[in-house]
Amino acid sequence: MNTGYLYHEVFGWHDTGTFAGDAPTDPGIGLQPYHNYEHADTKRRIHELIVVSGLIKHLIRIEPRQITNQELLRVHTQTYIDSIKSQSQLRLGGDAGDLTTPFGKGGYEIAALAAGGILEMVDAIFSKKITNGYALVRPPGHHAVSDLGMGYCIFSNAALAVKHAQGVHGISRVAIIDWDVHHGNGSQDIFYDDASVLTLSIHQDRLYPHDSGLRSETGASNAIGTNINVPLPAGVGNQGYESVFDQVVVPAILKFKPELIIVASGFDACVFDPLGRMLLTANGYGSLTAKLMKVAAEVCDGRILMTHEGGYSAVYAPFCGQAVLQELSQVKLLADPFAHVDNYPAQTLTRDQATEIELAAKLVDLIP
Ligand SMILES: [Zn+2]
Repeated sequence: MNTGYLYHEVFGWHDTGTFAGDAPTDPGIGLQPYHNYEHADTKRRIHELIVVSGLIKHLIRIEPRQITNQELLRVHTQTYIDSIKSQSQLRLGGDAGDLTTPFGKGGYEIAALAAGGILEMVDAIFSKKITNGYALVRPPGHHAVSDLGMGYCIFSNAALAVKHAQGVHGISRVAIIDWDVHHGNGSQDIFYDDASVLTLSIHQDRLYPHDSGLRSETGASNAIGTNINVPLPAGVGNQGYESVFDQVVVPAILKFKPELIIVASGFDACVFDPLGRMLLTANGYGSLTAKLMKVAAEVCDGRILMTHEGGYSAVYAPFCGQAVLQELSQVKLLADPFAHVDNYPAQTLTRDQATEIELAAKLVDLIP
């Protein structure tokens, strides 16, 4: 398998400031200065495991480049782009708009390198240099809307990839499958009335944002049916996620027939994540990847582009990334040293989880 991989050390220089998790520090009330949940270590450690395990030798490295203003305008407003650019020049940087998306000096250039990197991956797929690939970018993108950064996300990397694939490579239908534990509200918002893009998000019910990601949000105007939300109760494990893929994701892809599948890949649905309350394991993520590869081989010659979103367990996220990339490349080098989590009794699908999944499965019928 020709599997692409993209990472750049500069992604680790994106500065999310001094926080106590997601709270501004305040020693007066005991909030000791620490770092933001969204911190370089998690992604850097994913990259380092991929290098140290030797997997890197089996991957095709793709070099990122800065996205152009014109390319950003396919998704974002000029006013928003200018606001990020001007704050990026300040000594202490700024915030992308919602006060939970801080960035340091030079933050624009780093976000532009992440977004431009995704476009390079799209080019590599359509030039057949790679069949599938993983872009380990930072900052992430799936919460950003056209004129506002949200939830650590500055530019919508996945949406920019869709527009690039459609505008430059002449394809029309793209599916974004979002397995980050949070709702992919940005991708949903950007393509809500666009019937050429299927946006499908699997997430912990109203974790973030608190008011979106419901099953009733199905798309607008002639795009009704092309937005699918699978909100799940906390505590869903490997069997539950596999059931979501078997009953919702795979049937949706078979019906929609995308020419490219983009995965908004967050490892915050993993069992050790400090922000999510789900139980996915590295082997679970590998199994979901295998299901996607099988359906991608049927509908779009195996074209899958994964773009990195969240995932805040610096210890475990690397093994999730390793498992996904091992599956994409079909090179198995390392077993999950924490594989005992595969046997947690709570990995089993429960009745209430199955009910939620059955309700989401009905949404596949709405796809035009
Ligand atoms: Zn997330």
